[in-house]
Amino acid sequence: MSHLPFHTSTPQHTLAAYGWDDGYAADFAPYAEQGLLPGRVVRVDRGQADVFTTDGLIRADTALVTPHDPLRVICTGDWAAVEPAGDPQLIRALLPRRTAFVRSTSSKRSEGQILAANVDHAIIAVSLAVELDLGRIERYLALAWESGAQPLVVLTKADLVPDPTGLSYLVEDVETTAPGVQVLAVSSETGQGLDVLAALVADGTSVLLGASGAGKSTLANTLLGADVMEVQAARDVDGKGRHTTTTRNLLVLPGGGVLIDTPGLRGVGLWDSEAGVGQVFSEIAELAEQCRFHDCGHGAEPGCAVLAAIEDGSLPERRLESWRKLMRENQRIVAKTDARLRQEMLRGWKQLSVEGRANMAVKRGGRAR
Ligand code: ZN
Repeated sequence: MSHLPFHTSTPQHTLAAYGWDDGYAADFAPYAEQGLLPGRVVRVDRGQADVFTTDGLIRADTALVTPHDPLRVICTGDWAAVEPAGDPQLIRALLPRRTAFVRSTSSKRSEGQILAANVDHAIIAVSLAVELDLGRIERYLALAWESGAQPLVVLTKADLVPDPTGLSYLVEDVETTAPGVQVLAVSSETGQGLDVLAALVADGTSVLLGASGAGKSTLANTLLGADVMEVQAARDVDGKGRHTTTTRNLLVLPGGGVLIDTPGLRGVGLWDSEAGVGQVFSEIAELAEQCRFHDCGHGAEPGCAVLAAIEDGSLPERRLESWRKLMRENQRIVAKTDARLRQEMLRGWKQLSVEGRANMAVKRGGRAR
């Protein structure tokens, strides 16, 4: 395997804890020939980035990988090719991203902002201390699917629902809302479900999504076995709505896997996530294929299979309303968005969405319901 220089040499295993694999090694091969070091970005901060390389953690200059296109800007989770020497050491290039989390900014000129790259698992934290907001879960699911990552819903504070039957009903409710997604109830008090969660995230890179109070910090601390996240106060946006310096860390989990903390994801925005929305509401898409008219709006059209499903009770009306709301929101964002940027965003990730749907179909087929 002479074209994979890091396949056999010793540095590979130091990066393995950060998620390095044969695929990244293959992408890096041309840079290895130039004598550059591979490394993963653990933090980006105004022109500089902390990168864990085969030489350990270094602070590198990002001037060469800071294009005007906001979606191509270096971010936490990126794999980089770094100069082996220099003061500062320069990051020469970024490897192609497998997945990326982007949010639409609230500025008048709508632009995407990259929050995290190369994420495998999107853990959506939902607190059982308050009433389940299925619509909110659907928004997070859409965002997760759109990124290319596999969502996982974690219901936290399960100890507050002592009745096992009641708990299983809640889990079922969320499972119905999240086709193709594993739903796991956990408790930091009793330890319930935490071993399963640790095993699920041990392979690959994870992010924690969810509203404030959903228990993200507690989950992170549990996975990390430390209070590292305490310093990650919500100081992403200051009082005037301006973006301030943020700390986004990428942390290696003691039980295996990597956790990226992204405070920016606390304010969810959908960015042309039509594919993501479609995936969350896959049962509606399936029904729509049976509508008499190809462009059926499921309003009052004759022969509408979606309305028929609501009529016979097999589709909750809430699901259709939620789907409409997300589609409308999505269209507003699309209308504000520069078409070229969207093209950049979508390139390469459509394939992932297709694979995600295939996985989902397999999982649904295997579920005994
Ligand atoms: Zn219809």
